Amino acid sequence: MRVARQTRYGQLIRRCLRRWIPAGHAPWRRFPAWSDVPRRRWYDWRWQWRHLIRTAADLERLGLLRPDVAERLRSVTDTYPVVVSPYYASLMDPDDPADPIRRQAVPDLEEVTSPTRLSPDPLGEGRLEVVPGLIHRYADRVLLIASNMCSTFCRHCFRKRILGRPGVATAVRHLDAAVDYIRRHPEVRDVILSGGDPLVLPTSILARLLRALRSIPHVEIIRLGTRVPVTLPMRVWDPALLAVLDRYGPIWCLTQFNHPREVTPETDATVQMLLRVGVPVLNQAVLLRGINDDVETQRALHRALVRACIKPYYLHHADPVRGTHHFRTSLTRGLEIMEGLRGHISGIAIPTYVVDLPDGGGKVPLLPDYRVAVGPGVWVFRNHRGELFAYGVEPMGDGTQRLGTSE
Ligand SMILES: *Cc1c(COP(=O)(O)O)cnc(C)c1O
Repeated sequence: MRVARQTRYGQLIRRCLRRWIPAGHAPWRRFPAWSDVPRRRWYDWRWQWRHLIRTAADLERLGLLRPDVAERLRSVTDTYPVVVSPYYASLMDPDDPADPIRRQAVPDLEEVTSPTRLSPDPLGEGRLEVVPGLIHRYADRVLLIASNMCSTFCRHCFRKRILGRPGVATAVRHLDAAVDYIRRHPEVRDVILSGGDPLVLPTSILARLLRALRSIPHVEIIRLGTRVPVTLPMRVWDPALLAVLDRYGPIWCLTQFNHPREVTPETDATVQMLLRVGVPVLNQAVLLRGINDDVETQRALHRALVRACIKPYYLHHADPVRGTHHFRTSLTRGLEIMEGLRGHISGIAIPTYVVDLPDGGGKVPLLPDYRVAVGPGVWVFRNHRGELFAYGVEPMGDGTQRLGTSE
């Protein structure tokens, strides 16, 4: 029975890889360090895991850090450790210091020059913890920090305070207490497994957690907040993992692509596998200065996502977290970008721009104002081309007409 199931998912994996990844595709071979790594190895997540890049010196050897910079980064990496998967590193352009993928994963001195008035936890998550690792901010949903490990540590992570640090609410031993709390709170209908990354947990532990959550009748949906599809897609290409996701649904996958170059043939294959075991894939991009804070990049990113069958969900304004100030941009910039999306790319490709308020205030959406004036019974709107329209407020629609152009 078990063997038959594994074979079925094995076939699904092979079919998706064959269908979505071109035969000669091997971009990692550009790197001398990986020029003779065969596809079979490269596409084995265990190989990727064994070869995680964990030091500035490793990045230097790959040509992703200049030696003089690498030497000065100790002050950064002592505070905020380095973890980069070979797969994610292979998407970087070693010749471009401003490469958008490199900037997300390679440490930078700016991280320790961050003003100390910035809090490591501006969202006040620590105070909203009801049991270690379980954040209960909205009545009907909870967020569980199921792991403090990731396949790549994002330099812009808003939970950089917990990454890879033993002893902080990680932890497998806390999972039972969290499940207990959820069982005792029938108002909780939606459980978000986050971290860290829940998909770097051993499959058996994830299975145990999902099984426990599924045994709670009031838990309707489970979300996996994971960057694995971006940084270690081959983790999904594991028959045992797909079997678990298939079995314990409804499960939604919430991931974080921030740049169109992160969307690769490996992404296509991964998303197709997830869809085929009943897991929809949504994206929560983060607005990052110098990486994706312009209209062109955002259009390309969101078009690439829907082409890969990923539904854009949120565009997050970056939180004011200590160690990440250099990634932040202004709210007006964010609104300009949203204006540049609506009407210009498919509606299904448009995320909701959100700001997470401090101290557990929660997320609020921010929208460019398309309503430019409010009159008695009539509102005036502008569209994406700057044309003006009067629109009757009441059911009979009196006063609805086209007006002209705003510029
Ligand atoms: C973002 C978040 C959620 C989920 O919010 P949605 O708007 O439902 O996606 C839940 N709990 C916490 C603590 C969060 O930060």
